[in-house]
Amino acid sequence: MELSNFKFEIDSDGVALATFDLPGRSMNTLNLASLMEIKAITAEVVSNDAIKGLVFTSGKKSGFCAGADLGELGDGALTGGGSKEEQFKSAFSFNMIFRDLETCGKPVAAAINGLALGGGLELCLACHYRIAANDNPRIQLGLPEGKVGLIPGGGGTQRLPRLIGAQAAAPLLLQGKSLKVAEAQGLGVIHDSAPSEELIAKAKAWVLANPNAKAPWDEKKFRVPGGVPNQHPGASQAFTMGNAMMMKETKGNYPAQKAIMSAVYEGLQLDIDNALAVESRYFFNVATTPEAQGMIRTLFQSLQDVSKGASRPQGYEPYDIKKVAVIGAGLMGAGVAYVQAMAGIETILIDTKQESADRGKNYSEKLVEKAVSRGKTTIDKGAALLELIKPTTDYSMIEGADLVIEAVFENPGVKSEVIKAAEAKLSDTAVMGSNTSTIPITLLAENSVRPANFIGIHFFSPVEKMGLVEIIVGKETSEETLAKAIDYVLKIRKTPITVNDHRGFYTSRCFSTYTEEGLEMLTEGIAPAIIENVGRQTGMPMGPLEVSDSVGLDTFLKIGRETASAEGRDFNASPTGKLMSWIVEDKARVGRKAGKGFYDYNEKGHTDRIWQGLTEKAPVKFDECPPEMKEELSKRLLIRQCIEVARCFEEGVITDARDADVGSILAWGFAPYSGGCVSYMDLKWGLKEFVAEADRLTAAYGARFEPPVMLREMALKGETFYERFPPQSSGSTKAA
Ligand code: NAD
Repeated sequence: MELSNFKFEIDSDGVALATFDLPGRSMNTLNLASLMEIKAITAEVVSNDAIKGLVFTSGKKSGFCAGADLGELGDGALTGGGSKEEQFKSAFSFNMIFRDLETCGKPVAAAINGLALGGGLELCLACHYRIAANDNPRIQLGLPEGKVGLIPGGGGTQRLPRLIGAQAAAPLLLQGKSLKVAEAQGLGVIHDSAPSEELIAKAKAWVLANPNAKAPWDEKKFRVPGGVPNQHPGASQAFTMGNAMMMKETKGNYPAQKAIMSAVYEGLQLDIDNALAVESRYFFNVATTPEAQGMIRTLFQSLQDVSKGASRPQGYEPYDIKKVAVIGAGLMGAGVAYVQAMAGIETILIDTKQESADRGKNYSEKLVEKAVSRGKTTIDKGAALLELIKPTTDYSMIEGADLVIEAVFENPGVKSEVIKAAEAKLSDTAVMGSNTSTIPITLLAENSVRPANFIGIHFFSPVEKMGLVEIIVGKETSEETLAKAIDYVLKIRKTPITVNDHRGFYTSRCFSTYTEEGLEMLTEGIAPAIIENVGRQTGMPMGPLEVSDSVGLDTFLKIGRETASAEGRDFNASPTGKLMSWIVEDKARVGRKAGKGFYDYNEKGHTDRIWQGLTEKAPVKFDECPPEMKEELSKRLLIRQCIEVARCFEEGVITDARDADVGSILAWGFAPYSGGCVSYMDLKWGLKEFVAEADRLTAAYGARFEPPVMLREMALKGETFYERFPPQSSGSTKAA
């Protein structure tokens, strides 16, 4: 038997050991070749009389197996042609590899010496015995397929509920929650645990002691823990409640979660072989949906690429960042200081007064205190982190810094002073960054003596929680500066997307169309509760009015006025402009921070209810929302954002489809089930249909839905964004 992904040995007791060790890879994944080798190993175990049983383990330090190779399986299993029956057969043949292993007639054990996720855990579940290392805190066991729009397709939806009951399996299957070794043992997902070096010996001993091992569900007396729906009232009731909870969580937008519920419900009423066939049917049905294709591409492949700095220009030495000065110790500066110190960077935190700088450091002190109290860090590590943050008013402490990030008031005059003062202390090679959210980077760079070293580094609030950083390349910014800025973002373990300079850059510009469309609806007389509900039902994290309140209505008013003036429009001429001026200036309702905006807030800052006075300026004409109205409002909210994204591509603001998709989900939570704005256009609609729909909306509601010329051209040519704006390994930010 020739194997390249497994080492296969038979010991003197006749127990075979298959050590999973994908060549040239740091982590094992189940690709087609390794699945075929599992099939060959099973055949060998069956046919070789000298073999009494089999133990699987891993040769990797990083883990047992991280799951299916989505890149490889995705190409064939998700988009591969063939009839539905052929696709089903392909999905089922993978499932059968594990079933053949389980019914090989000899005992099979898994010695789980590292994390086992997705297909990796499904392989273990098809073994008769599972023992995991209890001295490796990094081990996780789980089925995260649902998180990328798939359903477990290697028996996970059938074996796990048969092992621990449907109710206990639900969070693992639907939300992709993973378990630590002790939790898995407590639930009965694994049989035993032991120190790493004892695992294989214990697994082998179990194999020798259990020559007639069978999966529990292959025993005649087997009963599903908790009962089978449709046969046991308790189990049926649990499913009814589970369905309701799943719909509440997913709003019906995620095909995978619906399919998981159905596969478990139907499968538990059948014997395991038929149940696995049911799973395979759901698997390929879900895998070919635009949602699965979009989620896998964005939340798995692109996110990995972008998080490794996919758009970093090549040819520049890695930038070793040891010291960074943050100027402005307010909300953003304080957060930036914390994430830098977390990454071991010496941080000079400057403000105008020592007490303001100290207050900025106090933000980190509170976060460290919380982390220590929750056991997430130790007192010593926390103290070492805080030691790295040096609050001061003294600009001379900037000397020797590799980077400065200014996060002072959003005022061009103040920023100009700060940039000049900071650059006076900086070396010629250091980078000057700005965290501005609205001022064009090219304009700010006019204050700089080294505009090639000047760049936008746009964080999101709260900095310690938000994973994305938008890097903005100004007209004069050099490629080397971009490479250095990306190295910095990677060092603080965040995900960088790269965009070109424009008012609102990419993220704020596109996100604000969501809130603007909500305002348009409000001025049309649609009840606020309907607007908010539809916003959440489309998969956005908050309704447009609530999210406006969170950002601050005064901020939106300011940005709205500036944009209108830059475009030569009269802001107050539009009904939405009038509404914003009225609520902020006449009614002094600026949002959550003031306890009053579109909503009234209670003393804890929680959303209480829509402010009743809103009807004075926005009388309600529609307070019922039949399904066709809901569909129309949903389309308006999503398509409006996508049209703006398309405009950003046309204007060269964004140039890589991966950045656009990842950014839309991570920055403003664009309906994650779609795989992001670009995938929503490319996959959910197809550009021809998307343009036709946008034209219909333009005729009905106005020019804000007008598709840009480039989008029409792409639709005519049958192109997609991923074809026209493919990955840019060179890091070029030039428009296509
Ligand atoms: P903030 O008002 O909380 O903090 C600004 C800080 O800068 C204050 O502590 C102030 O004392 C200090 N400061 C003012 N002038 C200074 C000077 N000359 N020298 C040193 N310090 C000075 O503001 P913020 O919300 O932290 O925003 C800071 C920047 O980040 C702004 O440009 C803003 O647009 C941008 N931003 C904000 C957010 C957000 O959600 N708040 C998000 C992204 C970007």
